Amino acid sequence: MFLDLKSIFVNENSSLPINYELNMSEVELSGGFPLQKPVSISGRVFNRAGIVTLKLLLEVEYSAPCDRCGENAVNTYCFDMDRVVVNHLDGDDLDEYIVAQDMQLDLDELCRCEVLLEIPTKHLCSNDCKGVCNKCGKNLNLGKCSCPQKELDSRFAALDQLLNND
Ligand SMILES: [Zn+2]
Ligand SMILES: [Zn+2]
Repeated sequence: MFLDLKSIFVNENSSLPINYELNMSEVELSGGFPLQKPVSISGRVFNRAGIVTLKLLLEVEYSAPCDRCGENAVNTYCFDMDRVVVNHLDGDDLDEYIVAQDMQLDLDELCRCEVLLEIPTKHLCSNDCKGVCNKCGKNLNLGKCSCPQKELDSRFAALDQLLNND
């Protein structure tokens, strides 16, 4: 979606509501397509005392296998965006401003970048996901497996020995 911001730039105290959905289902991340549900974008762009600000809330539903246990997990992430929009830049820091060339703003491109930047790199079904047993592969969130714990103990013992050697 392209936003025409001419009327916002020239009229102080003007405001334009934004409410739309962005399809990012074709975006491939970690070998899958986790953004099947359109990204929900809402907020407004407004001119206060000559300064144009874009204020958005982005809501992303991320559906992919959990990094630890491999079960499919759906997480919703919300990001705030609060940036000043300028129609030209005089050598200022680009990161702080959004440049709307000819007072046109490519909102899709902007939101797409923001989502890719803000999505957590770790995707877990829950923060205390126990993962899978590396021996039998059982999902330990469903309960303990019957693998003997001995091997783990002896590893610790060996480490203990190493640490206490000197
Ligand atoms: Zn998990
Ligand atoms: Zn096991």
